[in-house]
Amino acid sequence: MPPVRVLYWFRTDLRLTDSPAVKAALDLAPSALYPVWCWDPEYVYSHNVGVNRFQFLLDSMNDTSAALTRLNPKSQLFVIRGSPRTLLKDLLLKWEISHLVFEEDKSAYGRVRDASVSATAASAGVKVVTRTGHTLWDTEAIVAKNGGHPTLTSETLMKCVDKLPNLEPPIPAPNSIPPPGPLDLALDRNYHPVSRPVDRNARDRTAEVTVYDTFTGPHADFAVPTLEELGMPPATTPYRGGEAEGLKRLEAFCSNEIAVAKFEKPKTSPAAFLPPQTTLMSPYLKFGCVSVRYFHKRVQDIIAKHKRGSSGLPVNLPGQLYFREMYYAAEFATPCFDRIRGNPICRYINWSLENVYDADGALVVPRPVSDDAEAEMYFERWKEGRTGFPWIDALMRQLKHDGWIHHLGRHSVACFLTRGHCFVSWERGLEVFDQWLIDWDPCSNPGNWMWLSCSAFFHSYFRVYSPIAFGKKWDKHGDLIRQYVPELKNFPAAHIYEPWKCPIADQRKAGCIIGKNYPKPMFDEKARKEHCLERMKAAFALGLKGDDTKVLDGSARRE
Ligand code: FAD
Repeated sequence: MPPVRVLYWFRTDLRLTDSPAVKAALDLAPSALYPVWCWDPEYVYSHNVGVNRFQFLLDSMNDTSAALTRLNPKSQLFVIRGSPRTLLKDLLLKWEISHLVFEEDKSAYGRVRDASVSATAASAGVKVVTRTGHTLWDTEAIVAKNGGHPTLTSETLMKCVDKLPNLEPPIPAPNSIPPPGPLDLALDRNYHPVSRPVDRNARDRTAEVTVYDTFTGPHADFAVPTLEELGMPPATTPYRGGEAEGLKRLEAFCSNEIAVAKFEKPKTSPAAFLPPQTTLMSPYLKFGCVSVRYFHKRVQDIIAKHKRGSSGLPVNLPGQLYFREMYYAAEFATPCFDRIRGNPICRYINWSLENVYDADGALVVPRPVSDDAEAEMYFERWKEGRTGFPWIDALMRQLKHDGWIHHLGRHSVACFLTRGHCFVSWERGLEVFDQWLIDWDPCSNPGNWMWLSCSAFFHSYFRVYSPIAFGKKWDKHGDLIRQYVPELKNFPAAHIYEPWKCPIADQRKAGCIIGKNYPKPMFDEKARKEHCLERMKAAFALGLKGDDTKVLDGSARRE
């Protein structure tokens, strides 16, 4: 028998507790285990990722690396700078790998990448072993139970799940791991340097700077990169990544068992910050620092213990995790899930500032200058938190600074940008969330944007979040506004949601003149809402979807 030498490829699973794929790797009883992370420029630099998500990722990688070293002093996370599609084959050969093991990633990009890497590995005689772990259930199996269709409601999801085997219990973290084999590869000269766009914020990302000359890192030690190395400024988010941090946060939340058992999402406040009233586990689930199955079991056990008075689906914590499963299964079964054009579940709405695609369906980059200057202005002011509506501005500034906002805060800003007031395409909002959210997810993000813009999943377009009354309901004193819009911190509570109505003497007293120190509202909120309702009504009457010929050939837009 040839020796078993495993390359374990970390991607969506930066943890050791309850990792079915790590267990599968160790069950092979390898003589050498190479834990590898590929800094995949095709993926990371095709997204306009902001510094906070990078920081969270680097924290998570460092935490995994330290945990691996604790289990074996010779081990660490070996970070390879380069695309897995070009690099992994050489590593498999040079390190004489017999098995490539990884956790499945069923998202659109992950599927294509993994098929290509698996084919390469097979052609090199390497066995590929994969396990589900990023979701509670195998997404593909859910879709199969739904006749190949996307899951568009949580009820549909639950019906499919009922036909699947019960979840296995979580797996404890390993006590030890084998060392890697020799690492001296001398491959550097064979590889192209890794580049990233000069300006992450620019739509034109063709200009690049070289980030890495060598695939083993500046000190040739496969170390986790630093923000400095990536040419990025320090992060501003108060949230730090990693399995240890994620498990600590989960335990802290679960220490109040009654609150866990009675958790009802719609009753948690979008205005609560530091600490928020929800778990803030989303970035830990996104990077796989905490296993979703472990999280599920932890809260299910508490709910079972406090059955009387506990809340039910879909508002309780398991219900929240099932929404995540629903979006994963919807994405799996839907082509073009993250865009309008070609997306069969997405209602076609004649938005301002929608994305432009060429004849082959590729996104046109750089984005053509829009002739709708007003919509462009709404979008820019929304993004920068300068709309003149303090509730919206506070949330957008919280998003940019902290990298996370509460679900109902996301509802507020997404509804405002799209069907509520600005009538800007959800595709543009999605890009901003991709840039600033630390929990950005390829399934939950487009899914929720479609929901909020009434493009799919949810259709009551006449239910619009008020940028004034909704925030006031949760936070009468305006604490969230005072925290994130410091210009208004001394404003009287009676006027903090509509500062333009405040008498000028009080504005002076508060040290903030509206129109000078803080903007006037960028439009008449009620008039814009009426305008948007009319346009939504027209779109619903038209009844087109993203894969309709009229949408694909552009004629729907001109009508
Ligand atoms: P909790 O309320 O504590 O819920 C626990 C977990 O359940 C979350 O961590 C998350 O994994 C899952 N969950 C809860 N609600 C949802 C939901 N509606 N959809 C999917 N999963 C859910 N969530 C992301 O993880 N990534 C995104 O990119 C993302 N983009 C969003 C965009 C918009 C426009 C909206 C309205 C929502 C988006 N969400 C996204 C969903 C939701 O807002 C966040 O998952 C949630 O606010 C995270 O906070 P939490 O961990 O405290 O959630």
